[in-house]
Amino acid sequence: MQDLTSEILELVRLTSTDLPPDVEAALREATQAEEPGSAARNALDTILMNVELSRRNSTPICQDTGTPIFFVRYPEGWSTRQLRAQIENAVAEATRKAYLRPNAVDSLSGKNSGNNLGDDHFPTVHFEEVEGEALTIELILKGGGCENVGAQYSLPNAALGAGRDLAGVRKVVLDAVHKAQGQGCAPGILGVAVGGDRGTSYLASKEALLRRLDQPSDDPELAELEQRLTQEANQLEIGPMGFGGKTTVLATKMTSLHRLPASFFVTISYMCWAYRRRKMTLRNGQVSYE
Ligand code: SF4
Repeated sequence: MQDLTSEILELVRLTSTDLPPDVEAALREATQAEEPGSAARNALDTILMNVELSRRNSTPICQDTGTPIFFVRYPEGWSTRQLRAQIENAVAEATRKAYLRPNAVDSLSGKNSGNNLGDDHFPTVHFEEVEGEALTIELILKGGGCENVGAQYSLPNAALGAGRDLAGVRKVVLDAVHKAQGQGCAPGILGVAVGGDRGTSYLASKEALLRRLDQPSDDPELAELEQRLTQEANQLEIGPMGFGGKTTVLATKMTSLHRLPASFFVTISYMCWAYRRRKMTLRNGQVSYE
């Protein structure tokens, strides 16, 4: 089996230091919506300057390099045990090279492991065997501030008047955005999962964040709601970094899962403007990144 450690190290470097083009383009577009000289416009200009500097110097886009979350789709015949070992080696090396801040802290003792390796869940690696020859590894670096404002609702929610339908979903998503104001480093991107159990719903809400900003849901109803939620969140006037303004959310990514008749969960994973996600593909022995 091919050793991909150095290729995965490059994936980590790219993810931490080079914001994806679609996210940068959305941030640039957002500046045009804000008044010149306003706090919102200045915040976006500062963010964009920082993005350029990080790319040029190969330094982290944000000091919190987040939880590394890997999604690995591998063809038959690969060893997930060996892939995990390669990912862990790459993460430890990326920490030594300062592409990642040491972020893995023992929850009971508070001791930092110093290399971003913790128990079986740090870094987080999700594996799925797929058909075909290509192996893909996608990485999200999920910052702590934005992770803290993620939320899960069990519908119906009487306080919000939210029933078990898409109208109810809309209400709770907007409630989560409202509650996140001033935290989570807006403008954010919403990953929303409807259904599942509590665990699968959180996972699906993060997987939804793997889609490009301009890639709507395949489900027409969800695609329409994605657009509507982004527009309505931007009418809340929370603005970049909570300074007020027209740009609170850059995009909404939704998905749905089967659920038990007794449950109706809606889970929102909030991603900050530092929307660090990258993908590497190994095909015919060649590695490419996007
Ligand atoms: S929420 Fe995002 S932008 Fe804000 S400090 Fe954390 S990683 Fe950085």
